[in-house]
Amino acid sequence: MWRNERLGLIMIMASLLVMGAVVYLSFDYQLETRLLQARSQGVGLAKVLGGMSWEELVPGQGRQGVLQALRQGQSNPDFAYAAVIEREGRLASEITQPGVIIPNRPIPDEPAAWLGERAVVSDADDETFLEFHAPIFNKGKLMGHVRLGYHKPEFGLRYEELPYFASLVLPVFLLMPLFYLLLRREIRPLRKMNESLEQMLTDGLVQKVELHPGGELGGFMERFMEFANSAQTRIQTLESEQSGLLTTTKLLSYKHARVESILQTLPEAILVMDEAGSVSYVNDRISGLLGLEKDNILGKRPHDWCDNPSIISYLSRHNAQSGQVGYLSDSIQIVPQNDPDKLVEMKAYPLFSPRDNLHLLGSMVVIRDCTEEQMARRSRGEFVAQVAHELKTPLNVLAMYSEALMGEDGNSEDFRTEAVNVIHDEVERLSTLINNLLALTKFELGGMQISRQRVRLHELLEDAFRNISQSGRGKGLKFELDLPREMSPVFMDKDLLRIAINNLLTNAIKYNSPDGQVTLSAEELNGEIEISVRDTGIGIAPADQHRVFDKFFRSDDEKAREQTGHGLGLPLAQQIIQMHHGSLTLESEYGKGSRFVIRLETDSGVPKQAGVA
Ligand code: ADP
Repeated sequence: MWRNERLGLIMIMASLLVMGAVVYLSFDYQLETRLLQARSQGVGLAKVLGGMSWEELVPGQGRQGVLQALRQGQSNPDFAYAAVIEREGRLASEITQPGVIIPNRPIPDEPAAWLGERAVVSDADDETFLEFHAPIFNKGKLMGHVRLGYHKPEFGLRYEELPYFASLVLPVFLLMPLFYLLLRREIRPLRKMNESLEQMLTDGLVQKVELHPGGELGGFMERFMEFANSAQTRIQTLESEQSGLLTTTKLLSYKHARVESILQTLPEAILVMDEAGSVSYVNDRISGLLGLEKDNILGKRPHDWCDNPSIISYLSRHNAQSGQVGYLSDSIQIVPQNDPDKLVEMKAYPLFSPRDNLHLLGSMVVIRDCTEEQMARRSRGEFVAQVAHELKTPLNVLAMYSEALMGEDGNSEDFRTEAVNVIHDEVERLSTLINNLLALTKFELGGMQISRQRVRLHELLEDAFRNISQSGRGKGLKFELDLPREMSPVFMDKDLLRIAINNLLTNAIKYNSPDGQVTLSAEELNGEIEISVRDTGIGIAPADQHRVFDKFFRSDDEKAREQTGHGLGLPLAQQIIQMHHGSLTLESEYGKGSRFVIRLETDSGVPKQAGVA
């Protein structure tokens, strides 16, 4: 509002200034004119009056002086007084305007100063008069002087001049609002355009200005509106492009975050090198695998973050700048400095541009921990060697006896009996070994089919005990069976459970003392059945106790070595029990005996829907 009215105010100020200037100049001009008038009239009159005779000037009997006539004919408003003074300074005749007292100022005596002009200050009111004086001669003799006084024109407005100045100022005063209105009308389109611009700045919409001024302003406005419209279209295009870009950016950052989280979740360390061979990305796994901090690698070339020559040479071979375009299938295995027990494999894959598959952008290096894999490979090799060895021993014995039987020894009855027994025993051993091996391998490969059924544990344990005690009778051992009268049934694979219990009982006989005891007992407590196989035999040294469940483990103890075996019985028993969600534990005292305990939950393997109590 204030801004809109500023123009009006400027116009008022300007017109006031113009009016002030006009009035000032008029005053000045008037002043000058009045001065000139007074001067020309005063000088002229003084000369004329000075040229007249004393009689004409001074009134006598029955006649008026010229001065009286002068007063009547006087038209100059500045005229103040006229006086004829005698040579001695006496006043001979005078006329004055009302209120004027002629100042008493003698004319100097020097003839050069008789005719002239001077400023005279009134004694009464300090007013300055402009006085013109001239000498009066009579027949060449100086009679006196004539003095003509004029009010000295002052800068200021006189009452009688009011109409004059009003006639000057009034038109300006009256024309000013008219000019203002006309100007407002002219600049209305500009104001509208200004409002439209403000609107555009606040809500980005260009409003059409419906006023159509002619002339240059019209052309300018038309072009300006065209410009505003094209700017608006451009802004709208940019806005829609920006929102598109925003969406794309969000999508990209979402994809980026997703890819990053995938790369972070990978168990492998991922390292991406750009064309120049500097690391542009690396996930957090690198610190666990190579003991390197992410921030010390990013943006650096291999020789700046690594001091392992094999890694440096491998990475530089797979660098995009190495001139090698294509896939090199080689990988390296290294032992990281931070963990000498670990084995780490490094494999690089080329990263090609999606648009040009000949343009190599860099390479991605996958670093993974292959310690376990290496150990598994090694133990697989050891396992095969062990199996071969275990098979070879009985086969050697069989080959030896069969050769002997074909030779001269075959004629001896005693030798033939011995050979048959040995061959029978070795075939038994081989078949046990092969059965155990097969069962274990099946377990490990997950191919073991177990057929659960309702098993009356009491009957199974009694039967197993009877068979085993018969086979061990010749060894002078004492057998004891201690089972509760009633036992809850379990839902298990009967044959497998039988194998596990047999293996424990066989060991209790094998590794017993000559007059030792084998006890098979069972107990049911809080929904759990505990089956225990105890012997009073050689016992197991503490160092071996945690190893007896490893495949092919056989104690180095002399007495244990006297017995034949393959170290597969206990691992197999443990697999079977674990398969049925139970546990197999060992308590042993070296030289005194061992106790193997199977714990099974009565309801663990029993599906409720089967309705087995
Ligand atoms: P195997 O008896 O065929 O050698 P096992 O896996 O059954 O294989 O037993 C592994 C080893 O554990 C045996 O060689 C033996 O040293 C030890 N062992 C197993 N049971 C007993 C036991 N009851 N008393 C003493 N040592 C035992």
